[in-house]
Amino acid sequence: MASIFGHGLVAYTTSKLINSKSSKLLLLLAIGSAILPDLDVLAFKFGIDYSHPFGHRGFTHSVLFAVLWSALLSYLFGKSRKLIFAIVLFLSTVSHGVLDAMTSGGKGVGFFIPFDNSRYFFPFRGIKVSPIGIEEFFSEWGINVFLSELKYIGIPCFIILITLHFARISKL
Ligand SMILES: [Zn+2]
Repeated sequence: MASIFGHGLVAYTTSKLINSKSSKLLLLLAIGSAILPDLDVLAFKFGIDYSHPFGHRGFTHSVLFAVLWSALLSYLFGKSRKLIFAIVLFLSTVSHGVLDAMTSGGKGVGFFIPFDNSRYFFPFRGIKVSPIGIEEFFSEWGINVFLSELKYIGIPCFIILITLHFARISKL
């Protein structure tokens, strides 16, 4: 994983980019959806191997999972804005695997599970992989993760958000 902050920020930026009037509910669902796939670390506790389709970075990180999850949430919560909900939530969920595929460690991401169980990385892998435990998070490793996320996630998102902000002000 990138850290939950990195995943959450990308989801927040995605929501704002697609739909400036994102409701609080949609923002929360988007951020939650971007963090959710890492619940699969529980698989380790059940003795499921990392490279198993249901192991870490497996099915919950796949494109199919993002489709099903975003469809479910938009059906439950989208009301008259189901399409916007579905688009924002799909992108937020799938962004998790995309970020993971740019991290420096772990096994790759099973984007195409259950059709293809291979794990994938992108050629660019500048984001330092985030520790899973809290303790390690406040270590030198944690600081390095923070700095790499600031550079590759924080600054780009910040630039997008600022640009959107001024673009919208100038439209008023
Ligand atoms: Zn992950």
